[in-house]
Amino acid sequence: MKYAVTDEGYYGNFGGAYIPEMLYPNVEELRERYLDIIGQSSFQEEFNKLLKDFVGRPTPLFLANRLSEKYKASIYLKREDLCHTGAHKVNNTIGQILVAKALGKSKIIAETGAGQHGVATATVCALMGMDCIVYMGKHDMERQKPNVERMRILGAKVVPALSGSMTLKDATNEAMRHWINNPTDTHYIIGSVVGPHPYPDMVARFQSVISQEIKAQLIQEIGNPYPDYVIACVGGGSNAAGAFYHFINEEQVTLIGAEAAGKGVDSGESAATTVLGKPGVLHGSKTLLMQTADGQVIEPYSISAGLDYPGIGPMHAHLFETGRAQFMSITDEEAMLAGIELSRLEGIIPAIETAHALAVLDKMEFDKDDVVVINLSGRGDKDLDTYIKWGKY
Ligand SMILES: *Cc1c(COP(=O)(O)O)cnc(C)c1O
Repeated sequence: MKYAVTDEGYYGNFGGAYIPEMLYPNVEELRERYLDIIGQSSFQEEFNKLLKDFVGRPTPLFLANRLSEKYKASIYLKREDLCHTGAHKVNNTIGQILVAKALGKSKIIAETGAGQHGVATATVCALMGMDCIVYMGKHDMERQKPNVERMRILGAKVVPALSGSMTLKDATNEAMRHWINNPTDTHYIIGSVVGPHPYPDMVARFQSVISQEIKAQLIQEIGNPYPDYVIACVGGGSNAAGAFYHFINEEQVTLIGAEAAGKGVDSGESAATTVLGKPGVLHGSKTLLMQTADGQVIEPYSISAGLDYPGIGPMHAHLFETGRAQFMSITDEEAMLAGIELSRLEGIIPAIETAHALAVLDKMEFDKDDVVVINLSGRGDKDLDTYIKWGKY
């Protein structure tokens, strides 16, 4: 399996578990047990039941007629925006809280940047009656007030990270520190296909329900499980990993990841990791990341908080290096225009992360028989202030 993860957690040259000695027992316990736990039929039953009755799966695969007409191909939207809490992230937090339960843990910690993963984690903790602490950069708490209050309403404790730039990477450091000090009763729910092995693989498996459903739905729609293109935005890469997962070994399916170019890849204000990144270690795995010549992580920038991450998951670094997936850089402006276009053509206001995937359409030349699936990772309600501030609609 050319693109699959190895037992040591490597995707080609990327992945692994680069962690401090004191974190080793926690990560090792998870590594030893996750496949066994996930593979059990009782786990699968509970996971699938919650995805159905709590999350609202399967999410529809919607043929977007007016968008198809404009771009001259059959364009389908995988409606992850209709998941409970408004995005795909809950697929992963449901899976991980069930793993935590199977490991006998009673407390959950998480990090969050924009607050979306924090909300998805607080949601499943409420559902399962588990204690929840979410670390969040103080600067992000000020920028993302509604999500902070959502987490608090759901019963989570939100702890500000006060070091460094007081953003996501500082929150991640605080969460790791907490885990080192509370190894026996606590599980750390990471929010994307990043972090030390086994997280990238575990999160990709939970999100793979997206491509599993797409295949079944395409058989119904067109009599064939394979589209010509699958397009998804990439922050850490979890919604893209889920949308690509069951197509990775089907080379006739072109996979496209949309990265945030921010104000332009050469502007110094960007998050286009495949263009600007170099191999290095970030949050426990070897991957591509934006760094200075002496290895300091460069602060990323994107108009969309969910794509504002200085790296990508190791699976995507490998898909990029091997050429199996293409990555495109989408500027703030291109994304915002694509977000408005979907709103006007299909009556769906997308998350601004998702709008980056939609902006790829304008850069493509399709054949009229092409079947294109865009993973609509989330809804735009949370981004109303950003749309308003941008203002050009
Ligand atoms: C968090 C988020 C993303 C980015 O995260 P990935 O792990 O790359 O999927 C994309 N879209 C939405 C709606 C999000 O909330």
